Amino acid sequence: MQSPADFAGRRITVAGLGVSGVPAARALAGLGARVTVVNSSDGERERAQAAELEKLGVTVRLGDGDTLPEGTELVVTTPGWKPASPLFAAAGKAGVEVWGDVELAWRLRGPDAADWLAVTGTNGKTTTVRMLASILEAAGLRTAAVGNIGVPLVDVVLGEGQPDGASYDVLAVELSSYQLHWAPSVRAHSAAVLNLAPDHLDWHGSMAAYAADKGRIYEGNTVACVYNAADPATEELVRAADVEEGCRAIGFTLGTPGPSQVGVVEGILVDRAFVENRQQQAQELAEVSDVTPAAPHNIANALAAAALARAFGVAPAAVRDGLRAFHPDAHRIQHVADLGNVRYVDDSKATNTHAAEASLAAYEHIVWIAGGLAKGATFDELVQKSAARLRGVVLIGADRALIREALARHAPDVPVVDLDRTDTGAMSEAVREASRLAEPGDTVLLAPACASMDMFVNYNKRGEAFADAVGELTARDH
Ligand code: ADP
Repeated sequence: MQSPADFAGRRITVAGLGVSGVPAARALAGLGARVTVVNSSDGERERAQAAELEKLGVTVRLGDGDTLPEGTELVVTTPGWKPASPLFAAAGKAGVEVWGDVELAWRLRGPDAADWLAVTGTNGKTTTVRMLASILEAAGLRTAAVGNIGVPLVDVVLGEGQPDGASYDVLAVELSSYQLHWAPSVRAHSAAVLNLAPDHLDWHGSMAAYAADKGRIYEGNTVACVYNAADPATEELVRAADVEEGCRAIGFTLGTPGPSQVGVVEGILVDRAFVENRQQQAQELAEVSDVTPAAPHNIANALAAAALARAFGVAPAAVRDGLRAFHPDAHRIQHVADLGNVRYVDDSKATNTHAAEASLAAYEHIVWIAGGLAKGATFDELVQKSAARLRGVVLIGADRALIREALARHAPDVPVVDLDRTDTGAMSEAVREASRLAEPGDTVLLAPACASMDMFVNYNKRGEAFADAVGELTARDH
């Protein structure tokens, strides 16, 4: 099945509802396929989604995600489903292919479809993709930030070329490791792996499998494979990839760039990759102060975005203008308030230790609010690296003992407040305690290094609770 017409009349099973399952099922039904959606859970939300899809002639089976519907010719899966799911074993046995939602989108692209500039990595994907889209826009290109960012690729590619649909010059595409796992034929113009740290290992089975899935993003690149010079594992993935003839490996570094790298020289983002004479020449792109926030990890994100844009032929001035126009999404190192000469910063999106480490590295003296669901992580390395910056720590959430123990081992002199409550008022108490520990000039930083679902619906709600709690602080507390 390669062109939209090939899908008519085919029996296709979509594994999972949700943000990518519903659009996939809708799109396939629109192409005339005979679609069945299977979904293990059978709650109120699922029933509402099922009712909508049934109006389009889609069959929805709730409460059984394991059984492959009779006669299935293709399975299209949503990213959450683990590769070990019985449904895929059944598909394998029946000789039925499994595609992810991104693979489906790729196969549905028309002949004149826009190129993809793709981004993956353990952390920084969304930020980098948004920066990239901002740069491409500043260059006057028709573009959008799409993919794992919450904009289903299937909808984007089916909209392309339609009379009333958007037609793009190029897309800034965020891809998760789950999506890459099920997207064997995607071929980006250029792609970046920002960093690699253990995450989602329960899904992938091992670090090697996780890295291999991330590395898929480089397969078949035509112009540039962008890697992080400070993270040799990313360069390794470039070396392992089978790319088009002439495709180049481009590094980004926070230090002085070598030939074929982008980097930083005296507060200036410079390009020694896409210049005529890269042995001798460097091209100024932007100033570090053009990047918000100008924290080291975020400069790295900006460099990766700049490299991808430059690979696509964008002029230096557009890189600068695009970075200046970019403002980060909420809950990503978001400055909430300054109270009594203490800064309050919400990085609720730091849901793993690698992200929290980057965030802690951005401030000198920190009262750190941490904890939640650890997802199998260990905290020794994070605490060791950050200990010197910690004025104090306030721990919240289900797995806080793991962080407390790491602090006892590596930062025994740092005062720790351990909050043994998970009700909605816990964040208010955490912020009050943090404000007591803070001294003038310090930063109170919510960078939990954990997922939020033990106490909050999601990381957004956790960040909002933090901001509300900061709002409740009175001047008397300082
Ligand atoms: P993703 O889409 O990969 O989850 P985001 O851009 O949403 O990434 O950022 C998530 C969190 O990761 C941020 O709140 C920040 O704490 C951290 N982060 C962002 N960029 C980086 C980076 N380059 N390296 C390490 N951590 C980062």
